[in-house]
Amino acid sequence: MTGFSVLPHRDELGVQPGRLYLDGQWTDSTGDKVWPHIHPSTNEEVTTIVDATTEDVDRAVRAARKAFDEGPWPRLRARERKLLIQRLVELLRAEAPRISRLQTLENGTPISFTDTYRLSADFAADVFDHHAGWIDKLSGETFPQYTDRNDLQFLGFREPVGVVGVIVPWNGPVLQLANKIAPALAAGCTVVVKPSEYASLTTLAVTELIDQLDLPPGVFNVVTGIGATSGEALITHPGVDKISFTGSRTIGGRILEASGRDIKRVTLELGGKSPSLVFPDAPDVRAAGRAVMGMVALGMTGQTCTAQTRALVHADCYEEFLEGARETVESVRFGDPFDRATTSTPLINKRQVDKVMDYIQGAPAEGAALLMGGDRPGGDLAAGNFVNPTIFTDVDNRSRLAQEEIFGPVLAVIRFSDEDEAVRIANDSEYGLSSGIFTRDIGRAFRIGRRLRAGAVGVNGYSFMPNSPIGGFKASGLGREGGRTAIEAYTELKTIMIDTGV
Ligand code: NAD
Repeated sequence: MTGFSVLPHRDELGVQPGRLYLDGQWTDSTGDKVWPHIHPSTNEEVTTIVDATTEDVDRAVRAARKAFDEGPWPRLRARERKLLIQRLVELLRAEAPRISRLQTLENGTPISFTDTYRLSADFAADVFDHHAGWIDKLSGETFPQYTDRNDLQFLGFREPVGVVGVIVPWNGPVLQLANKIAPALAAGCTVVVKPSEYASLTTLAVTELIDQLDLPPGVFNVVTGIGATSGEALITHPGVDKISFTGSRTIGGRILEASGRDIKRVTLELGGKSPSLVFPDAPDVRAAGRAVMGMVALGMTGQTCTAQTRALVHADCYEEFLEGARETVESVRFGDPFDRATTSTPLINKRQVDKVMDYIQGAPAEGAALLMGGDRPGGDLAAGNFVNPTIFTDVDNRSRLAQEEIFGPVLAVIRFSDEDEAVRIANDSEYGLSSGIFTRDIGRAFRIGRRLRAGAVGVNGYSFMPNSPIGGFKASGLGREGGRTAIEAYTELKTIMIDTGV
């Protein structure tokens, strides 16, 4: 037993067992399987969600197919679609405090963190607002006529890609959902969403808001359930034109494989093992240590794709960096996630605890030195999935600790002595999602920033906004979310040619 329970919050929030949302209606499953939703801080059962059957997924895809092929949605005038999405923006803003509490209830992220802009429904509202703004600007190009052998005038159009299967991970579920369904709906697609079985409550809450919009039936559908059944049924369904997925590299690979049969379009946002490069001329080396360790130990406890879990630190500022990192570790408070003093999330499930502990226990044999942590808190916290923030120094970049995505509060610190060495180590990874450079030298920031094989580079700071693209090089994914590129990925480019000589 922990010294607290999350169940009173469930009762206050009025959380009920989940249902499916198909063809514009809340619906029961054709089967009777449910998935217990367990809270990671206490391992209490909060509620159950439906584990959708293959038949349920088929019903959802058929509804989305019909709404796309026959419905008015893809052909709706820009202003009409814009107005509908803008209503959702307002509803999301009004519900932001409740959605923040629901995130805390579903995945244990402390309320002090789910309330921050990046994780909030306010951010999700801005994502919808951003994409709604593109609706009347989605356009192709016209080209000068080419030869005098014909009089064809070519015009380009952006058409919605069709039915989109949206698969969302458990971390930051509201922003991940918004990053997918906002551009999809704005582009005129219809969607079938499968949220993570570890975080379906906020998707169901957002669905309640979408239900109020009176969209044409079938435009938006939700099937909950586990990946191996409902997820597989969605990614292999021939009626789906595109899969938009955020999650692990392994499942991303499986989606590419499954998409090969029907040549489905894909957007994949996958994992990372991102580096931070810290130079002695950083504006404040100690603050850089605090910030990098903050990505690993505060908030979601390193369970974010963009966490910079490899700290590459110049030999001349190594000790000062570690002092900063140590300060962050000392500020960590585990506990009741609804208590504002709690800083950090437990690991999402017991399997993840075992995985993280396995990396920690194997690290010394790979030559890494344990500086802090490496264990789990006991006492009142023993029933939760907590792992203490951990720092390993003298890490070899070829070790598992430095190469594999751990998804937990573990920082690997690696020493370097010049820029070329730092870039070589940073790029020596199968991933390429985020990266950071701490330096006051703008020349160095650009020199290195351009050489890093990563989708995003933060100089002395790192975050994302609804209008900036995020995505990965190499095994970190395919495509980008945020900005114009994101909405264009939910369209097909069509060329219409008109013979002007007739
Ligand atoms: P996961 O891959 O285990 O699950 C993600 C989703 O895929 C869940 O909804 C799950 O049910 C579903 N799924 C699982 N097996 C499936 C299958 N066979 N077919 C279809 N769907 C299936 O990932 P997770 O643990 O939920 O999330 C953590 C991972 O997500 C990490 O690797 C992290 O780096 C990555 N992530 C990436 C980004 C990004 O923007 N690049 C953002 C957040 C998380």
